[in-house]
Amino acid sequence: MTRRISILGSTGSIGVSTLRLLDEAGGDFAIEALIGGRNVDLLAEQALKYRPAVTVLADPSQWPAFRDRLAGSGLDIACGEDAVCAAAGRKTDLVMAAIVGIAGLKPTWAAAATGATLALANKESLVCCGRALIDRVEAHGGRVLPVDSEHNAIFQVLDATQKDKISRLILTASGGPFFGRTRAELAQVTVEQALKHPNWSMGAKITIDSATLANKGLELIEAAYLFDMPGDKIDVVIHPQSVVHSLVEYRDGSSLAQLGPPDMRVPISYCLGWPDRVVWQAPRLDLVKLANLSFSAPDENAFPMLRLARQALEAGEGMTTVFNAANEICVQAFLDRRIGFLQIADYVETAMMRAQLPTISSKDHISRDMSGDRMTLVLEIDVQVRSLVQDLFVSARQHV
Ligand code: NAD
Ligand code: MG
Repeated sequence: MTRRISILGSTGSIGVSTLRLLDEAGGDFAIEALIGGRNVDLLAEQALKYRPAVTVLADPSQWPAFRDRLAGSGLDIACGEDAVCAAAGRKTDLVMAAIVGIAGLKPTWAAAATGATLALANKESLVCCGRALIDRVEAHGGRVLPVDSEHNAIFQVLDATQKDKISRLILTASGGPFFGRTRAELAQVTVEQALKHPNWSMGAKITIDSATLANKGLELIEAAYLFDMPGDKIDVVIHPQSVVHSLVEYRDGSSLAQLGPPDMRVPISYCLGWPDRVVWQAPRLDLVKLANLSFSAPDENAFPMLRLARQALEAGEGMTTVFNAANEICVQAFLDRRIGFLQIADYVETAMMRAQLPTISSKDHISRDMSGDRMTLVLEIDVQVRSLVQDLFVSARQHV
């Protein structure tokens, strides 16, 4: 039977890898929806190749160019946020949720109610909505599959029937381009240096998140919600080779890990094939060539984002949204060269101290809330934090 697949963020790093894998090994599939942000050429090219039931471009300013490109193609195309959410909410078998940042929240939330399997790359929506997102997927008969390589690794080796025998989860982190540097050495690093990830080729936002370790902080929160584990049972270990993708430590002394080359197509293929495995020309792991695998503890003084993420998780979902929103706006400001590398964490910490969380401030509210209210609350906090951080930027400029 033909399997229908929607890709939210099809023009991004994860989206493109997903389509490539489908080309290589997808079997009998049809694309239900393709959604892209503003890359007209690539989205149009994908639409012509895969002929999805609907193709949506998010950015209205690019609409005339997009419409002209596809004129006469007979394809169903649309534009804007409402169209994005409508396309994401179409009935389908599998959704790859790979829009970056909080922009992915509404469409991912819509996809969660389709009953489809949700291959989740957009970690930011899970970080902000917590269990409510997973519950929403499951209440509609779907299932969340983690695309993030660390969580995918844990998903592969975690035996849910032995959950009470797990002592901890260990997330591995490459350490990013600045692994081993002191705080003082980080003060002057440039955008270009931060965008040069040693192992992974990814979108700009997650690449900066990897350099600050905010990515690992988001992943810590992601793991807590995905696997229902308290933060104090999730450790982070720096492993620069990115070969051991994460581990589950059982109380009998066994630790189970998943290994693989640092290539996102491996976890993506696992999600595409699950519960089966896809056969494709996967890159192979040559342990002899690798020769050395090293591990060390993270330096939370030089990379405070990990500690801040832990605090946010401890404080509850409202605070995880604050952490996420402040980080997202600071990453953009760093990319725009408006703030320095170390200031990202400084501003996030200030935002976490100052944000007002009227409604979901405590752990008691990590509820099984499946209504749209959770998403609305998250977006309210997100907007509030963005304006708070913008104000901080402005007053910092006035004081220099
Ligand atoms: P990317 O920047 O390469 O791609 C992002 C995609 O989102 C693009 O298709 C873009 O057009 C789309 N987009 C942006 N704004 C949009 C909007 N407002 N509406 C609709 N679409 C919009 O990012 P990426 O590296 O592919 O990452 C995507 C997600 O996957 C992120 O949440 C990231 O954390 C996660 N992830 C990525 C990797 C990786 O290796 N790239 C690994 C693990 C997790
Ligand atoms: Mg990851």
